[in-house]
Amino acid sequence: MVPAESQAGQHRIVVVGGGAAGLQLATQLGDALGRKGRAHVTLVDRARTHIWKPLLHEVAAGSLDIGHHAVDYLHHAHEHHFRYRIGEMIGLDRAARTVQLAASHDAEGREVTPERSVPYDTLVMAVGSTTNDFGTPGVAEHAIALDTQAQAVRFHQRLVNAMLRAHTQTGPVRPGQLHVTVIGAGATGTELAAELHRTLRHVVSTGLDRIDPDKDLKITLVEAADRILPAVPHRLSAEVMALLTKIGVEVRVRARVTEVRADGVALADGAFIPSELVVWAAGVKAPPFLKDIGGLETTRTNQLVVTPTLQTTRDPDIFAVGDCAYLVEAGSDTPVPPRAQAAHQQASYLVKQIPAKIDGRPLIPFKYRDFGSLVSLGEYSTVGSLMGFIQGKNMFIAGLFARLMYRSLYKMHQQALHGTVKTALDALARALTRRTEPRIKLH
Ligand SMILES: Cc1cc2nc3c(=O)[nH]c(=O)nc-3n(C[C@H](O)[C@H](O)[C@H](O)COP(=O)(O)OP(=O)(O)OC[C@H]3O[C@@H](n4cnc5c(N)ncnc54)[C@H](O)[C@@H]3O)c2cc1C
Repeated sequence: MVPAESQAGQHRIVVVGGGAAGLQLATQLGDALGRKGRAHVTLVDRARTHIWKPLLHEVAAGSLDIGHHAVDYLHHAHEHHFRYRIGEMIGLDRAARTVQLAASHDAEGREVTPERSVPYDTLVMAVGSTTNDFGTPGVAEHAIALDTQAQAVRFHQRLVNAMLRAHTQTGPVRPGQLHVTVIGAGATGTELAAELHRTLRHVVSTGLDRIDPDKDLKITLVEAADRILPAVPHRLSAEVMALLTKIGVEVRVRARVTEVRADGVALADGAFIPSELVVWAAGVKAPPFLKDIGGLETTRTNQLVVTPTLQTTRDPDIFAVGDCAYLVEAGSDTPVPPRAQAAHQQASYLVKQIPAKIDGRPLIPFKYRDFGSLVSLGEYSTVGSLMGFIQGKNMFIAGLFARLMYRSLYKMHQQALHGTVKTALDALARALTRRTEPRIKLH
């Protein structure tokens, strides 16, 4: 292993995972501590660019061009006074206080960076989550998850290719040829189903006139629970269900998937849904390499168990934030949910607490504030429920206000990364270029 460089005397903060939580944290710690030389901040990520994960279903559907939203880690780190090191974390040596990174390779298989170790004084784990297929046969081989940029882009390319194939073939479109089945009607699956419904029709309208949108295109959303969006209030779930049905998305609830095959999805009741493309969006778990890593306490789904100050239960020098952290707050019987709003709040919290830890001051506990749930059905609608707005009750919202609220979470993330002025300029530039660019990506 080649030890990574460090600067003598400076407190070394290493953040592993540059996603919703980790990139915000590294940016703000870099600006606050790195700039003044109070600490040496390093961000490790296996990817070279960051894309905010809740945008991935739009990338998959083709309504968002990844190039317009990706943040280049190396450049961003330079601007915000922290170091970026590419590499996939594969191990942790708590005695030596080092993180082990695997070697990275280019598309031709040539080594780009060697296997190495990165030393830390304070470590923050922010490696997010991956899809949980619960061991269902065929998922790994035949279904696509939306965990990474590469997966979302691959899904989109397969979708466009399927449309082009159907348009140019000599015979008629066969059953299932242009069907997409989305498994899991949580927010990700539900939003993807609505977005796909719209973009598929748009692609057809660009000249693929041998495809009949009403006859040939089909989106099916499959959910094992007795309603879609099981984690949100009933009214919200019912509104979304009515909207999906109205636009023609087939919704199957109480439907348990037993196998995903090359040509479709088998259900426990014996039914079979022919499908060209299958998306698996039914549940998450923390990355498998976290299981018992370095002797830390982890859950059955590999999350790192943390105290109210987000420190791991067996090592106060190691914090965990975002989807990979397991925190049950005092007075609550459910853990903080794996959501972008939790990742954002935890990153904002640690920006203040890590300097306190370095200075030897006591840390105050983290308090999660649930602002409610918002579901975007693309251009069809956005609906949601805001928590505690009227005398502690939920308030149902829909339409433009809900859409603005939905977008504001991403704006908050951008603001944390780039500041208010750059975020506003970026929004303006995007509004202008939207007039000249295709609305759906066709390649
Ligand atoms: C399609 C989709 C839609 C969503 N929509 C919403 C929504 O509307 N609202 C909401 O609140 N939440 C939503 N979520 C959930 C939200 O995206 C996550 O809760 C949030 O991104 C978690 O942030 P995080 O920082 O913990 O992890 P992530 O943002 O996933 O970042 C993890 C980072 O760690 C890196 N990494 C992983 N493993 C390693 C390793 N071994 N070594 C180095 N780096 C590693 C990854 O490359 C990544 O950059 C959605 C998720 C998806 C997939």
